[in-house]
Amino acid sequence: MHCAPCWPTGCNCIYWKEVDVEGRVRIVMESALTARDRVGVQDFVLLEKYNSEAALIENLRRRFGENLIYTYIGSVLVSVNPYKELEMYSKQQMERYRGVSFYEISPHIYALSDNTYRAMRTERKDQCIMISGESGAGKTEASKKILLYYTVTCPINEHMATLGDRLLQSNPVLEAFGNAKTFRNDNSSRFGKYMDVQFDFRGAPVGGHILNYLLEKSRVVHQNHGERNFHIFYQLLDGGDDDLLTTLALERNPQSYNYLVKGNCPRLSSVSDKNNWKVVMKALSVIGFTEEEVQKLLDIIASVLHLGNTQFGEGEEGETYITTETQITHLAKLLGVDVSALRDALTHKKLTAKGEEMISPLNFEQAMSARDALAKAVYGRTFTWLVEKINQSLALKEIYHSGKGCTVIGLLDIYGFEVLQHNSFEQFCINYCNEKLQQLFIELTLRSEQEEYETEGIAWETVQYIDNKIICDLIEEKHKGIISILDEECLRPGETCDVSFLEKLEDTLGGHPHFVTHKLANGKTRRVMSREEFRLLHYAGEVNYNVNGFLDKNNDLLNRNLKEVRTMQMDEAATQFKNSLMKLMEILMSKEPSYVRCIKPNDAKQPGRFDEVLVRHQVKYLGLMENLRVRRAGFAYRRCFEAFLQRYKPLCPETWPNWHGRLADGVSTLVNHLGYKAEEYKLGRSKIFIRFPKTLFSTEDALQA
Ligand code: ATP
Ligand code: MG
Repeated sequence: MHCAPCWPTGCNCIYWKEVDVEGRVRIVMESALTARDRVGVQDFVLLEKYNSEAALIENLRRRFGENLIYTYIGSVLVSVNPYKELEMYSKQQMERYRGVSFYEISPHIYALSDNTYRAMRTERKDQCIMISGESGAGKTEASKKILLYYTVTCPINEHMATLGDRLLQSNPVLEAFGNAKTFRNDNSSRFGKYMDVQFDFRGAPVGGHILNYLLEKSRVVHQNHGERNFHIFYQLLDGGDDDLLTTLALERNPQSYNYLVKGNCPRLSSVSDKNNWKVVMKALSVIGFTEEEVQKLLDIIASVLHLGNTQFGEGEEGETYITTETQITHLAKLLGVDVSALRDALTHKKLTAKGEEMISPLNFEQAMSARDALAKAVYGRTFTWLVEKINQSLALKEIYHSGKGCTVIGLLDIYGFEVLQHNSFEQFCINYCNEKLQQLFIELTLRSEQEEYETEGIAWETVQYIDNKIICDLIEEKHKGIISILDEECLRPGETCDVSFLEKLEDTLGGHPHFVTHKLANGKTRRVMSREEFRLLHYAGEVNYNVNGFLDKNNDLLNRNLKEVRTMQMDEAATQFKNSLMKLMEILMSKEPSYVRCIKPNDAKQPGRFDEVLVRHQVKYLGLMENLRVRRAGFAYRRCFEAFLQRYKPLCPETWPNWHGRLADGVSTLVNHLGYKAEEYKLGRSKIFIRFPKTLFSTEDALQA
């Protein structure tokens, strides 16, 4: 709680409430200067030098040093990953934040959760919380804390008493199958996730629904050094009992499996695969998977490992055959298919020429990639099936007539901007997704904020922001965007390859200000770039993409074979992704947004280390400075005249019970009566704008009194 007379203009006095172990509340005051020097300010809006990036970073650093990992920019929550367990997430803490105004108490993910929940309840409007930040910044942890807050603090609907458990248990299952250890995060989400939680009219959670985006399937068959495959493989080998492993014909040592040895990283010090196995098995049963379904799931996981160990030989006439007969026998049994059919499927492909179906043998290389394509497809489809099963378990009961009268809070936990040493198709899609989210952020906060002031005729100092539409268009525009060119190249008959794709890009996009290749405009060569790369100048920085594998990944080998067989029209991977992103944007646009901006303080995943260079880069691409400038220049609250008058008219004898004049005059009479000072508010054409939260809070308090 800040010193009331000067809040929020940035007084130096800091008071706060502390609850001791016996639940007694104590008011603490610390001498003005020492407190501020030590802990910084809890809302960046209070910074004197609000235009200085250095001041913002310094404030983050001080707070981080005091384990104060949360700070606001108005209603945006900035969170710095502490890389250690902090005692701030208990049930008692949840109680502290329940129903308490955002600005009355120290910043917290629970405050944001509670605020969003109350906004949904009082305004009966769907909400969404968008969590962003780079890999390892703490997005998934934040989304889990929000979900936990709702399942613990919200009322329970008697028809859906166990829903909370099922919502929470969906996390360990999806993490086991969709997360992996990467160079940057020991529990990195390798898929994007959007989850709706539906609430009934009393505010009890009654349903949930998950949308998943672009699982990184290539990880099933290949991992970089120091990285692992998806957690579930190691959990099964470490945690499954002897009988289970015998049934699945598996050995316990992960190093026995080709798909698990590439990263040379079988164990993690930070997690116990054995314990997590138990957690996942329990979670599957809470969600409602039958024993049979779990067995099927494990059969598939085991069959992926056997596929990876399936080897081929080359006959004298170039024909390919399988050298690992036992693997094939296990595989056929686990997948429930005929051995010889499986053998044929792995060494041949079907073609249709002039309407006739032909079987043609695969050469050695082709057989290896067909095997890997099958493993990726099997795993990818299993993941989709898992999400569908979870959705069935979380689905609203029929009594809710598919959601009528329900309101929703959506949680978006999606991969952050990624720049690796080698960037491929996956990074291209991930970074495209971040461009779209940035565009939405601009749309929803910056642009709409400025436009609203303009339409309301309120004097306003324009804030410059980076508009990234040009980059979104470069990627997604029909016919001449990168995705269209990639699709065209995939569908073009005859020999196409990644390099011909790059050439096509150069021909079409050569002069674009955000697109660079090794070719210079004067025909010379840019030495620092490889001939297999193109560079995009993203809003968050430059990224070089290597085109190797783009065509194959976009045009999944299995899909290509299917298309050849059935002459089917199927969208390529990048286009499917683009379409699902468009739908996601529509979903998010239809809701009232809140933001959590996560920051990773160091690359070593260690507590207590704050790397300023790393943080500065994130502050830049998360757009925190623009955000702060808009916030500081603007007004904390706005209400249309009618709603404002309707709510607060009891506080003024002239407006109560009804005001019969112009709405603007009624609001003016009301605020004069309440003693609002001129600098505290402005009247627009249809809305009142209130500069400081405390003004509205004191009015609200008067109403409640
Ligand atoms: P990715 O994009 O790779 O999925 P992410 O942003 O989801 O990354 P998390 O998995 O949420 O990152 O966080 C990485 C790790 O950081 C966690 O496993 C945990 O160890 C630690 N961490 C994150 N947030 C917190 C927190 N609030 N308290 C304690 N530890 C945290
Ligand atoms: Mg994550």
